[in-house]
Amino acid sequence: MEQTLIIFKPDSVQRGIIGEVMTRFEKAGFKIVGIKMLQPGREHYHEHYEGIGSLKTRKGDEIFESTLLSMQGGPVIAMVLEGVEAVETVRKMVGSTEPKSALPGTIRGDFAHVNYSQATKAKKAVANIVHASADTKEAEQEISHWFSPDELFEYQVAYEHFTQPREAK
Ligand code: ADP
Repeated sequence: MEQTLIIFKPDSVQRGIIGEVMTRFEKAGFKIVGIKMLQPGREHYHEHYEGIGSLKTRKGDEIFESTLLSMQGGPVIAMVLEGVEAVETVRKMVGSTEPKSALPGTIRGDFAHVNYSQATKAKKAVANIVHASADTKEAEQEISHWFSPDELFEYQVAYEHFTQPREAK
């Protein structure tokens, strides 16, 4: 089954909305297989956003540095979700990067409204609630960057009754 990494960014932790956002993923049937609070330093985020995510290469130094500083601004909650095509479906639920452009019904569209130009003026990352892995390769790299194998769990959830293959008779 596919796994993806979610990070509740400092803005969602500090606004007290992680429960509401997490509920959306639970209601969609995703299984939480790992979860923890932590406050990583620059090196960890450098690897996350450039080593794995190529943010500096894609968007330049200024956005990269503001993002690293904003992410270090408080504790975050990292979570691994598991489900059928989890990476793509979770990204769909999260919505596009800029909350102003994110559609209503998505997490970024419903819980934020801010835009890139305000973020640039403030020299901050655009506050967009959660990070979610962009593709399956990134998901694998991110999960092993954020979690050790013994922090990930195997158990059954009720929803699997509907997704597991029928027993061969
Ligand atoms: P996503 O998080 O949707 O995968 P990116 O990987 O391109 O998007 O960017 C990583 C993070 O960097 C974004 O979630 C956002 O917090 C920040 N960011 C990206 N582009 C901008 C921008 N133009 N202005 C401010 N912050 C940005």
